[in-house]
Amino acid sequence: MYTLLKSQKTYSPLLEATQISTNFEQKDTTSEEWAYNLWTDNNDWCTKCKNKNNKLTFNDQTKTTTCTQCNHTQTYEEKDWKTLQAKRYAIYQYTPGKYFFNNQTTEEIFQKYLREHNHNDWSSWIIHDYVLARMRDDKPVQDKLYNATKLIVEKMDYDPKPWQTLFEKLDAQDPEIFHQVPQIIYEYAENHLHTATTKENLTDTINSYLLKLANIYCYSRWKGDRIACWISSEIIKLCDIDSYPTNFYTDFFSCDPLIEGFQDDLLATNKREINVKDSYIQWELNLSDKFLKKSNALGAVEAAYNALGAKLGIHAIWPPTKVLPLDVYTVKKVTELFDDSELFRFYDLATDLNTIDPAKACYYAKLFSEKIKEMLPKVTSIEQEQAKKMAYVT
Ligand SMILES: [Zn+2]
Repeated sequence: MYTLLKSQKTYSPLLEATQISTNFEQKDTTSEEWAYNLWTDNNDWCTKCKNKNNKLTFNDQTKTTTCTQCNHTQTYEEKDWKTLQAKRYAIYQYTPGKYFFNNQTTEEIFQKYLREHNHNDWSSWIIHDYVLARMRDDKPVQDKLYNATKLIVEKMDYDPKPWQTLFEKLDAQDPEIFHQVPQIIYEYAENHLHTATTKENLTDTINSYLLKLANIYCYSRWKGDRIACWISSEIIKLCDIDSYPTNFYTDFFSCDPLIEGFQDDLLATNKREINVKDSYIQWELNLSDKFLKKSNALGAVEAAYNALGAKLGIHAIWPPTKVLPLDVYTVKKVTELFDDSELFRFYDLATDLNTIDPAKACYYAKLFSEKIKEMLPKVTSIEQEQAKKMAYVT
């Protein structure tokens, strides 16, 4: 007997935002290069071409978006267009893990000081880029930024002392120094969102910014960019809204082994090798335990199921087309790969009992999660599991 509950929402607001139904037996035909070479999210995708993540072009003059594939055009009201662009600007202008003065020479950075930025803004971005370069162990960029400040000191006859002191601080063996990067990004992003949106829309706009950060975390994780992950997760903590997503994501990312000990590793100049897939599986298992502690049966079931899907190679945190649906039909198919009827039974009972008897639902969610932990070391790819199954049947 299938209840409505079986098509319950995922535990993650992020996945809700990007979820696309996937049949794991079909080859992924949507991973066109453009979509994943650079980070994009649902604001940049056409909603008319189903499940394709086709790119939109934005026309500021006509306040319209047009799909490059189906040519669908959407026109926005002035106010909505402004909000949409503000959300996009905040994330694209101040992308976590990207240099603000990207690909610019010392001379060009100096010119930016003269023509574009006031002293404070310019200095902030020098600090941001210098510390980011320190994280990336990118000496040429550090030298370039240092030389740009030397240029302003010389040409403007400034006192060099404050700059020397600043760079000493930026080079210090102090874990706190790395926080400069997320703090500067948030300061500018928040400021932009404040000026570009109305008071009543502000919470919603910051919320949407936060979801984009969470999305960038997932994208960066997929790319194996630990630095961008740490920065995104730290900006989320700074988001000035007393809301569910801030706490949710702070909790969510805090049990990811990928960013564990990040600052200590930087100071120790440890090049810690982290396997993206294995650490993702471990992260989902950690999440499953965390959800159980909070008596969230569905969350625990989904996290453990994601770990299993990742091991099989049919689920990943990115791209969004790789999200394995948590519905009765798909879970049944996935669990049928293994000759173990209990796995599906635990899922079925946990989801069935969830609204009627949460304590019992948690009991079965725990069994489901433990079963998966027990199975994981033996699980191989989907193709291999299917082959094993075929061999067993015939
Ligand atoms: Zn389209």
